[in-house]
Amino acid sequence: MSVIQVQNKQFELFISEDEIRNSIKEVSQRMISDLHDKNPLIICVLNGVFIFAADLIRCFEFPCEVAFIRLKSYSGTNSSGKIIEINGLVEDVKGRNVVIIEDIVDTGNTIQYLKQNILSQQPESLRIATLFLKPEALQVDVDVDYVVMKIPNEFIVGYGLDYNGYGRNFRNVYKIKEIEG
Ligand code: 5GP
Ligand code: MG
Repeated sequence: MSVIQVQNKQFELFISEDEIRNSIKEVSQRMISDLHDKNPLIICVLNGVFIFAADLIRCFEFPCEVAFIRLKSYSGTNSSGKIIEINGLVEDVKGRNVVIIEDIVDTGNTIQYLKQNILSQQPESLRIATLFLKPEALQVDVDVDYVVMKIPNEFIVGYGLDYNGYGRNFRNVYKIKEIEG
């Protein structure tokens, strides 16, 4: 399917599942060499990350603890600019080698907020991994250690990412189709 309908919008095929999986494997190699002996606490930022996290974490055959938090900063296709914490972290972060896993870094505000929050709990180290990064949309100076794919400033769905809660189930990634005319 090269064009899909998600609620009131059309999206066109942008990145295939195979391309994404291959890039995840490459990035996972670097993560394995950095983390295999660090007993990391991997914090997955729900909801959008669920498919990426499942693919990435299954590349790790070393001891690691996996935790989930849920944040929301988006409404429709525009950043609301407001970060709402929905479900907080119960695991103890102090002294741990923490890895935050995100679906997409857009303005960078969400990851910046999370980074500050986790650092205030005194981890031994903190690394950040994201499936997608939009370099042109970044508004804050935040280091992301592992980026699977850099993409232009387009709104995307699929592979876990949603439009108003829909479209997460599509295997490939689609970008919003501008209305012609
Ligand atoms: P940021 O705080 O970096 O601006 O936004 C991060 C969050 O906004 C992501 O975790 C994701 O939930 C949402 N987001 C940003 N860009 C997109 C996009 O292109 N598609 C979708 N579905 N969500 C996005
Ligand atoms: Mg997210």
